[in-house]
Amino acid sequence: MGESSNATGEKAKVYEVDELLKNLKLHGEELNEVILGQEEVRRWPAVKWLAAGKILTGKPYSMQPLKNTLMAAWSPAQDVTFHELGTNLFVLQAHYLGDWKRIMEDGPWLFRGCALMTEPFDGATIMPKIIPSGVEVWAQIHRIPPLFRKKEVIEQLAQRVGKFLAADGVAVQTRTGVFHRVRVKLDSSKPLTRFVPLTLEGSERMFLQVQYEKLPKYCEHCGLMGHTYLECGTGEHGEDERQFGPWMISEEMYWKPGTPGVRARFTTRDG
Ligand SMILES: [Zn+2]
Repeated sequence: MGESSNATGEKAKVYEVDELLKNLKLHGEELNEVILGQEEVRRWPAVKWLAAGKILTGKPYSMQPLKNTLMAAWSPAQDVTFHELGTNLFVLQAHYLGDWKRIMEDGPWLFRGCALMTEPFDGATIMPKIIPSGVEVWAQIHRIPPLFRKKEVIEQLAQRVGKFLAADGVAVQTRTGVFHRVRVKLDSSKPLTRFVPLTLEGSERMFLQVQYEKLPKYCEHCGLMGHTYLECGTGEHGEDERQFGPWMISEEMYWKPGTPGVRARFTTRDG
């Protein structure tokens, strides 16, 4: 966990519990565990609206500015509490269903251009079992031929972009054709998908363009989210080495109506 400052400003070492347990011999009452029955625990009300959170960035940050940015974007009806668990890992808890739904479903939420990643957490372990690693976004699949504009085809195409969550249902008309909007969870360890191939058996393969609505910071060199091409490797990437670019982002006029924080991203320093 690194270091923290004590009252005199000196750096004090923070001891990791796992490291201590490896070397210490526990005795007596220290080994006499408190046992809770499954039945008993099942009768308790579930801990509500709790999620593990992580920011998709390699850079250090402090919790207070993070909390300020997110609270300003969410404008929750009740307070949302944050508890740090370690470096770039925290637990957040909403206290009102409407706030919870907004936090979990209306993202991506950005902090300094980087995405907040969340996973529901049941609160039954010291550390969450699932560490957040995905970013939910709206993506558009463009110019699907009319014959293939079927729910099952759109879902399969969406699975090539990320984990399919929902389809918007209606086709949206633009100046250059029609697109279908899908909600997907992007895997933060994989480059962004620019095209999805579609082939009718015996016919030529078609490449359907994917565009994204509100997207966090991404790299035009390697296509990963969380850094820019200037922060990738040595940062020296010529135009021809930049395989990803702003053409992957949909014009804002075609974003899903009601996407929160659309303007805020460009007008606030942290948004
Ligand atoms: Zn990169």
